[in-house]
Amino acid sequence: MIPLMLPAVSDAEKPFVTRLSKNRTDSPWESWCIESSESQSVFSGENGLFQIVGPGIQDLDGDIVIVTPAAGNAERIIRAGSTQNSLLVTERCDQLCVMCSQPPKKTHHDRFGLFVQACLLADNGITIGITGGEPTLYKQEVFQLLETVLKARPDLKFHVLTNGQHFETSDISQLRQELFRKVVWGIPLYSNDAAEHDEIVAKTGAYERLHQSFDTLLLSGAKIELRTVVLQTNLNSFPALARHIAGLLHFIEQWSVMQLENIGFARNRWDSLYVDFRKSFNPIAQSLDVASLFGIPTKLFNVPLCHLPEFHRNFAVNSISDWKQRFGEKCLMCSKKETCSGFFEWHPAEMLDEVSPL
Ligand code: SF4
Repeated sequence: MIPLMLPAVSDAEKPFVTRLSKNRTDSPWESWCIESSESQSVFSGENGLFQIVGPGIQDLDGDIVIVTPAAGNAERIIRAGSTQNSLLVTERCDQLCVMCSQPPKKTHHDRFGLFVQACLLADNGITIGITGGEPTLYKQEVFQLLETVLKARPDLKFHVLTNGQHFETSDISQLRQELFRKVVWGIPLYSNDAAEHDEIVAKTGAYERLHQSFDTLLLSGAKIELRTVVLQTNLNSFPALARHIAGLLHFIEQWSVMQLENIGFARNRWDSLYVDFRKSFNPIAQSLDVASLFGIPTKLFNVPLCHLPEFHRNFAVNSISDWKQRFGEKCLMCSKKETCSGFFEWHPAEMLDEVSPL
């Protein structure tokens, strides 16, 4: 696993954003390495000297970090060469999903100013994720971040993960701006059955409110990636959900069907939530076929290729970020390892070898 939060020592008075460089630079936004070993690097820049403990400069070169002196850490907020960088803008949320991978907290630290600076330094053309908690609890701040960055950096794109509970018709004129065509909203819908969806997200009325937001987003010309995590509780609803999407939500960019992560709330509920696709794939297969029939672009996320019937393997994408991806020992013998998602770092160790090399 690639560490994203590193111990750091700095005398700066407040948190700052900088890009790490192995070469001396005149940019006020970059800090150059003046000393490095395998276990620590010392940098110099506008905010004085600071030390980062952990990987050497060869691994950190080009990373954009937020250094927080009071906390004694440096957060690799946008890693050089990585296609999977996300800004966790808040840990608050107004849902309590049964399988939440990042259980919400009540407190919020506003770091939008730092996030904007980090985005403005990003490599050309990358997509930056915005996640939480629920980002749209701070909707105007999120909109402002997107507008500020995309006006200055039209080469960038954003993917915002949101529960879709807070879009209003009054947002339509703002969202219709051309720069919002660079934004994809990743929105979970867990069932076509309102009660089932509401139970999974632990919020009465969430399904109805979500569909109001879909209307708003449709009228805004917004790009939507619909996301559905497979659970024992919604498995049998998948074919009906696929028909619901084909009938009402066919304007979406993509439907992402996702395997469960063994982290957060799901860790203690694994036995009652996890669906082993090797044993129970029929409802998913039916839903993929319905989606295909109606031209809904559909992908399977976080599923090892060998857990799928051959006919449906082409729906799977290598979706697990490099910093949290893991394979079993038997995978070394597999010819499909390069294109396989493998497992999350936190997948139960005893299940890592439940694979069949292809
Ligand atoms: S054996 Fe490993 S690499 Fe091959 S398909 Fe299965 S999980 Fe993926």
